[in-house]
Order: sequence, then C-alpha cells, then structure tokens
Amino acid sequence: MPSHRTSKNAEPEQDTSAGGPADLEWFAKPDSPEGGKGLRFSCTMCGNCCTGPTGYVLVNDDECSGMARKLGMTMEAFLAEHTHMMPLGRSLNERKTKHGYDCVFLDRQKIPGKAVCGLYEARPRQCKTWPWWSSVIATRDDYDQAQKKCPGLGKGTLVPVSEIRIQRKIIEI
Ligand code: SF4
Ligand code: SF4
Repeated sequence: MPSHRTSKNAEPEQDTSAGGPADLEWFAKPDSPEGGKGLRFSCTMCGNCCTGPTGYVLVNDDECSGMARKLGMTMEAFLAEHTHMMPLGRSLNERKTKHGYDCVFLDRQKIPGKAVCGLYEARPRQCKTWPWWSSVIATRDDYDQAQKKCPGLGKGTLVPVSEIRIQRKIIEI
C-alpha cells in the first residue's frame, strides 16, 4: 500500500533546474488537479498508511532519541523494545492486528473510529513527509494509485509546489 510502511522503490528525482515547462513535475503543470499550484492533502486519520502488509518505517538515531524521550524510556530500552534492524536500516516494529501489520505506535483507542499516531510530534521523517515522497508523486499514475488508499490525498489544504519539493527532499522514499 502507499504507506509509511511501503517497500516500493522510489523513482529518480526530476531535475527542475532547467526551468522550462517541460522540466516541471506533473503536479506543477497547468493540467494537474490544482492547475499547477500544488496538491491538496488533509489527513482523515483512517490509519491506512500505518498498517497493511509488513513494511518498514526507517528511523535514525536522532528520531529514536526523540521518540524515547517522549515515551520516557532510555534509548537502549527504546531500541530494544520498539525497533529492529532491516537491510535498509533500523525500522519501527509492527504488530499483527485484524487490520494488517500495524505500526507499533498506531493508536486505535484514543479517538473512537480513528487511528492516530501515538507519537505524533515525535514521529519520524518518513511519516512527517507523507505523502510527498518521490515514490508517491513521481508520476500522476503513482499519485492516483496512492489516492486509492489514502483518502486525505486530493482533499483539504492546498500544499504549494514549493513546499512539496521541500518535503520530497527530506527523505528518499
Ligand atoms: S488519510 Fe492518508 S495520511 Fe491520513 S491516516 Fe489515512 S492513509 Fe494515512
Ligand atoms: S510512527 Fe506514527 S505515523 Fe509513523 S507509521 Fe507509526 S503510527 Fe504511523
């Protein structure tokens, strides 16, 4: 699924340095859904992106330190209890539920009918930058596929092209 936990390979970044219309990303062109102004996104708290088939949420030391602090744990305890190593690096653990493999921090109790991140402010970059990953917005087709699973894509707040580009560069997914 187009999730925080996907293993889909990212496509190469588009080079916009030439500056001509042909070099623009599809979402910056006039025939895109928002006329080239950006894309809309407002999370509905459905939780789809934090569950599904087994996947990964990559975390670095700084992120683990912040998450451990939020949970009142030592770094060592946090790493041992909530993470594991994968070929791509360290990832958050997941747990099998009736919905799929939930991220260990997905909270389905806090708000009835919703699924929210139990670490929200301390969530890792991979989560903070969703859905502006290269693999999600590389092509209109990638975006359309992601929109089928993420009901927040295409709705609500208009996120400008400039901000999408910034988010896309933060982590390569
Ligand atoms: S609306 Fe999208 S970003 Fe929000 S929880 Fe659902 S799938 Fe995730
Ligand atoms: S850390 Fe939070 S936002 Fe990221 S996958 Fe887990 S529950 Fe979802």
